[in-house]
Amino acid sequence: MPENVPSPDDGAIERLRALVRIPTIARPASGPGPRADRATFEALIAELPTLYPRVHASLERERLGPDPEGGPGYSLLYRWRGSDPTGAQAPTMLMAHYDVVAATDDGWQHPPFAAELVDHEGEPMVWGRGAIDDKGALAAVLEAVDRLLATGFTPRHDVLLLFGHDEEVAGTGAQAVASALRERGIRPALVLDEGGAIVRDAFPGLDEPFALIGVTEKGITTLRLRVEQLGGHAASPPPFAATERLARAIQRLNAAPARARLDPTIRRMLRTLGARARQPFRALFTRVDLTAPLILRSLLRRGSEITALLRTTRAVTELNAGHAANALPEQATATVNVRIAPWSSVAEAVAEVRRAIDLVTVEVLQPSEPSPVSPAEGEAWDDLVASIHEVHPGLLVSPYVMMQASDARFMTGISDHVYRFTPFRLSAAERACLHAKNERIRVSAFLEGVRGYEALLRRR
Ligand SMILES: [Zn+2]
Repeated sequence: MPENVPSPDDGAIERLRALVRIPTIARPASGPGPRADRATFEALIAELPTLYPRVHASLERERLGPDPEGGPGYSLLYRWRGSDPTGAQAPTMLMAHYDVVAATDDGWQHPPFAAELVDHEGEPMVWGRGAIDDKGALAAVLEAVDRLLATGFTPRHDVLLLFGHDEEVAGTGAQAVASALRERGIRPALVLDEGGAIVRDAFPGLDEPFALIGVTEKGITTLRLRVEQLGGHAASPPPFAATERLARAIQRLNAAPARARLDPTIRRMLRTLGARARQPFRALFTRVDLTAPLILRSLLRRGSEITALLRTTRAVTELNAGHAANALPEQATATVNVRIAPWSSVAEAVAEVRRAIDLVTVEVLQPSEPSPVSPAEGEAWDDLVASIHEVHPGLLVSPYVMMQASDARFMTGISDHVYRFTPFRLSAAERACLHAKNERIRVSAFLEGVRGYEALLRRR
């Protein structure tokens, strides 16, 4: 081949970079905001048909989601008609979102919205906010559809693509799409959204990489703890000022963590991954039904990432009290971010908090229950696993519990097969950059992702 002829892969990377350059920063949860704030969102929506003309010539696209000014919504729903007309009611749905977490140049090796293509540790990488989360997935999905269209492929069942615009704040776009699909009587046979990935060094005693597919996700709620008291002069303090009562409550809460459990999803994960782990981990994990108490004790000692899989977690994220340096506080409040285990509920999580503390009022904000568990078996699951194996032969694949909340939770009401997995290889350092500085994706991992989505769609 002559030199300097761009390959299709080069084009794919350029398109990803073009999307990362548009700073579609998520708006606060208070709502879509005025239209003027949405210029970058409009810019991205307008750019997509230019970047992926074949996709936009072949698929229908509608804009959904609430808009206070009565205009078209900002979430995009694409429909690729399948060859089997009965497949319209049971489509395959691939999801991603194009809003991103805010970022400034501060502390980034390469500016967050410059989408520079720069080598790191011997590999070319695209740097920028959204390179993985979640424009990486969005671009890979569109690239896969484009490549299949180029070969003349038509899926058997309809394929829906949903690109949300406010996953990072409220998910109103995904909720609007879920209710539109429900009204149309559509129940996707497979929903795939962001979540797990291909990782390594994330399981005790296991050195090889493995894929984690989220079959459920934790619930989420925010609690406002409040102590109110008569104020007064700070020169004559009561035995316990509001601030001290609140501090005591937080300490009590920390001393009474939610109970931990190895639920069926986690047990299956331990058995699957443990089967290829070193001894003594292999013996321990593969016989989880006998060794559960021992495993629980040893995992709980290992630190935050893995213990969060086992229980409801609480994080005190904001503290507020007082109005003057020399006056007693009339009020002290703490915000507690609670992530609820799949086998628990908002009510149970709140009750556990109320039991642990007293003399403090607890207000429950924006409760969202944990998601039902999708089966790690059956046609949808098997197709997903087979698509992973096409790109990564022999790779270990395991279900897991996704700890973060995603737009996928809104689809559990219209589909029994909701999976959370992005087909990218991500190192621990790359995972740590999500929602943080220096987000980046390896070019090789992105291109494997394109092939992964392509392999999945070929089976549908
Ligand atoms: Zn995301």
